[in-house]
Amino acid sequence: MTTTDNSGDVRLSGISKTYGAFTAVQPLDLTVPQGSFFALLGASGCGKTTTLRMIAGLEEPTSGTVHLGDQDVTGLPPYKRPVNTVFQSYALFPHLDIFENVAFGLRRRGVKSVKKQVEEMLDLVQLGEQARKKPHQLSGGQQQRVAVARALINHPKVLLLDEPLGALDLKLRRQMQLELKRIQTEVGITFIHVTHDQEEAMTMADRVAVMNAGRVEQLGAPTDLYENPATTFVANFLGTSNLIEAEVDTKSGDEIVLKAGGGKLTLPTGRCSAPTATGGKVLVGVRPEKISLTHADDAGEIPAGRNRVTGKIADASFIGVSTQYVVDSPAGAELAVYVQNVDRDARLVPGAEVVLHWSPAHTFGLDASQDIE
Ligand code: ATP
Repeated sequence: MTTTDNSGDVRLSGISKTYGAFTAVQPLDLTVPQGSFFALLGASGCGKTTTLRMIAGLEEPTSGTVHLGDQDVTGLPPYKRPVNTVFQSYALFPHLDIFENVAFGLRRRGVKSVKKQVEEMLDLVQLGEQARKKPHQLSGGQQQRVAVARALINHPKVLLLDEPLGALDLKLRRQMQLELKRIQTEVGITFIHVTHDQEEAMTMADRVAVMNAGRVEQLGAPTDLYENPATTFVANFLGTSNLIEAEVDTKSGDEIVLKAGGGKLTLPTGRCSAPTATGGKVLVGVRPEKISLTHADDAGEIPAGRNRVTGKIADASFIGVSTQYVVDSPAGAELAVYVQNVDRDARLVPGAEVVLHWSPAHTFGLDASQDIE
């Protein structure tokens, strides 16, 4: 495949879907580059499946166009698009064995010698040994891999996956996430994966579009979305964000100083999506694992230049290698702090007076006029 091949690019331009008076997808522009693993992430009902179905041709858009590479496929039926879909339900044929399930698409197109291609596909999904079993004799994860093999054998330019791991238990989900990632890297085509599970999207995808109420709230690499969310919805959907109400005090070239809870907090200008006029309200966020805790008696040891707020431990729970604290803070919030590998003796107990501190570089600022969801 040459680097100029763009036949697996997916470009949605102003695409929308309404059902009567209800708008499931607001006009949406989105480009998914050839060969990427892309996730559409959002809560139930946000419009991600409808978006996927419009790419597949299973749903007709109310407005807008779908391009695959340079080709406008908006009016084409699903079978004429170089796209295949894997559904949560697997949709395998129960009476056919695994080999014949995978061979189905080839046979339907009249391909005579299918053996080599089917065997290659079964090897790709590591089911070479299971070829003569029936679907009911396989585990859920294995059945899902058959569904992937069956979709890939048609050599689509784009594979669409609609909550493909939704029916699996947590451990199997984790295994299959890595497995799908490996398969995508191996075949190198565009995967678009729909999920409501933020961890799943973050583990698998190169780029994630977070959807809310029929709109894309934010698009980016998983770590960028997590560390630099642009809205309260994204901040909270992707994890705990510890939002503290603050007010802009001063702003220099690359730094904003805010007043919060009787003290000052600093953050880089580039990490604040809120208006920054003096006196403006900002919600300051920081992820729980970026915060350190120091007993108030030892506060003198905290290096200069860190953001700090005071607090009192309200709860401490030991979960695996991480100790999770809930801290009541006069900054106006109950703050979550996750600390790794705390010695039993060093664990802080409820009632302890503490200082929470973190780097300004790990601080983000959000528009305080948004609803906190
Ligand atoms: P889920 O994860 O639950 O499938 P989703 O984010 O994929 O959610 P969609 O299936 O895209 O959401 O649905 C978006 C909205 O459009 C929902 O409120 C749904 O009820 C509505 N909707 C979907 N299909 C139809 C339809 N055929 N007629 C009317 N409303 C529909």
